[in-house]
Amino acid sequence: MEYKEFTVQQLVDGLRAASFSSRELTSYYLERIHALDGQVHAFLALDAEGALARADQADQALSDWRAGKLDAVPALLGLPIAVKDVLCVDGFPCTCGSRILENFKPPFNATAVQRLLDAGVVIVGKTNTDEFAMGSSTENSAYGATHNPWNLAHVPGGSSGGSAAAVAARMVPVALGTDTGGSVRQPASYCGVTGIKPTYGRVSRYGLIAYGSSLDTAGVLARCAQDAETLLRIMAGFDERDATTSDVPVFEPSWQGSVDLKGLRIGLPMEYFIEGIQPQVEQAVKQAVSLMEQHGARVVQVSLPHTKYALPVYYLIAPAEASANLARFDGVRYGLRVPQEELIAMYAGTRGKGFGAEVKRRIMLGTYALSAGYYDAYYGQAQKVRTLIKQDFEKAFELVDMIAAPIAPTTAFKLGEHTDDPLAMYLEDVFTLPANLAGVPGLAFPVGFDDANLPIGMQLMGAQFSEQALFRAAAAYQALSDWHQRYPDGVKA
Ligand code: GLN
Repeated sequence: MEYKEFTVQQLVDGLRAASFSSRELTSYYLERIHALDGQVHAFLALDAEGALARADQADQALSDWRAGKLDAVPALLGLPIAVKDVLCVDGFPCTCGSRILENFKPPFNATAVQRLLDAGVVIVGKTNTDEFAMGSSTENSAYGATHNPWNLAHVPGGSSGGSAAAVAARMVPVALGTDTGGSVRQPASYCGVTGIKPTYGRVSRYGLIAYGSSLDTAGVLARCAQDAETLLRIMAGFDERDATTSDVPVFEPSWQGSVDLKGLRIGLPMEYFIEGIQPQVEQAVKQAVSLMEQHGARVVQVSLPHTKYALPVYYLIAPAEASANLARFDGVRYGLRVPQEELIAMYAGTRGKGFGAEVKRRIMLGTYALSAGYYDAYYGQAQKVRTLIKQDFEKAFELVDMIAAPIAPTTAFKLGEHTDDPLAMYLEDVFTLPANLAGVPGLAFPVGFDDANLPIGMQLMGAQFSEQALFRAAAAYQALSDWHQRYPDGVKA
């Protein structure tokens, strides 16, 4: 077996047992990145030297521990990971895929990142993203698109497309992403990997550069559910630097309980199996659910009647919040500045040059929705419908333990296919937006391939703070299937 076939737990155990060193492991992944990333373009920044230095420190601590000089070592000591370029990591640039932050180096770590560093991870690089996480294909990055490792002519999904592609091509064992409207789950689905979008408030947003503050979540892209869970449990929990984090205790590992599916009530929402969905996507999702049914789950139909409003509601609320959040990028404190005599001219010059077309579109949409005279009709109304969407989920979770649904209507589309048609791009998000609006967790994992050999994903959504149950169900499915073990060998070194 090669390292790329190992789970996080196997890697951590191997490091502890001195079967291999963190330097060997980190070098192995750096070599894969050098061999493959010219074609995939998953990374915006790499720090090979820094990563190897940290790997050496980890190896030293591991050898001290083996010699009895240390009582314990942190949980993930020596494990290489990558981080989406909207999460601040001290020592790396944080561009958010935007020209406006091209030279921005944050002097601090996001809380989620800090907790993983405290657990001993080795950060090898920052991954590509749609500009400020606005997009569904990673084509909105100012630094060039990422390609899907399963077929380089296709998008990896977005906005965490860099992290999804990096894990799919086994350039890192695991990577961090963010999900505001689907940006962990949809790229996970397009790239055939597992991704968790946690409950809103489960993971601190401190150091996650804000897009839509009431929707943003930090999550994980991984090879399997158990790997995603291992990282999430470390990232999660109350943080005094983010007043929206919850003090609900972090869940215990799901594999400590029973791993069978007996008695699990799974709901299939009829609004998610609609006209326009690619038949093979629907088929694969239904087959996955029926496999779970054969192993003891009970499947019932449920209804989330306000689903059809999720798209317009999201595309009012997210741009409205974005227009406020992005006001801080004005050339005064950090990032790009286009010098001008007049202050207003400097703002306009900086923002005009620094932001790309999609970001400008969102700022205009959001500013309009928030302007006096339109606020009640658009933003206010959208907030009311958001509550109805949330209530749909609450009612459904009185009947079922979790909901199974497709993630996107189709498999990965071709690069350039939707770039001239923002609405077609927004339609990609119909099945992922509701979970963000309701603040509930969603776990994406592979359930098959279409005729073109592109991965198909499914999501399990649960009530707020039900991540443990989602991980348990997905792990049970992954024990019965091997989709998650496949990786693209089309991208060759
Ligand atoms: N595609 C959605 C958008 O463009 C979601 C992006 C995200 O989750 N960050 O807003």
